[in-house]
Amino acid sequence: MDLDALRADLEQVVRESEATIATLRAEEEDEQGDVVEDEVADAQDFTEADREEAMIDAAEVRRTEATEALARMDAGTYGVCVDCGKQIPEARLEFRPEAARCVEDQERFEESES
Ligand SMILES: [Zn+2]
Repeated sequence: MDLDALRADLEQVVRESEATIATLRAEEEDEQGDVVEDEVADAQDFTEADREEAMIDAAEVRRTEATEALARMDAGTYGVCVDCGKQIPEARLEFRPEAARCVEDQERFEESES
């Protein structure tokens, strides 16, 4: 497993997520400065703000996952499922370097969250 390449990928994910969050937050602040009198425009603004909020949330989750993966690299536990302790397949890590769980445990985790 090429840890250096995966680390570079993760660092890029962190940088990209932070850039996305910063851009969206700046846009949000711009829009809050606008006074919208038309109710229709107001409703559209709401939808737009919701969409941006969802994008910010998604970017924050990705940033957190990538940061945690980098911490596991430093701790020497990277690539091991945090739930069952088994090695995560290399193909999965290449596809999703921030993965903290094997596929089975990730599915269980997502089911328990929803
Ligand atoms: Zn597992």
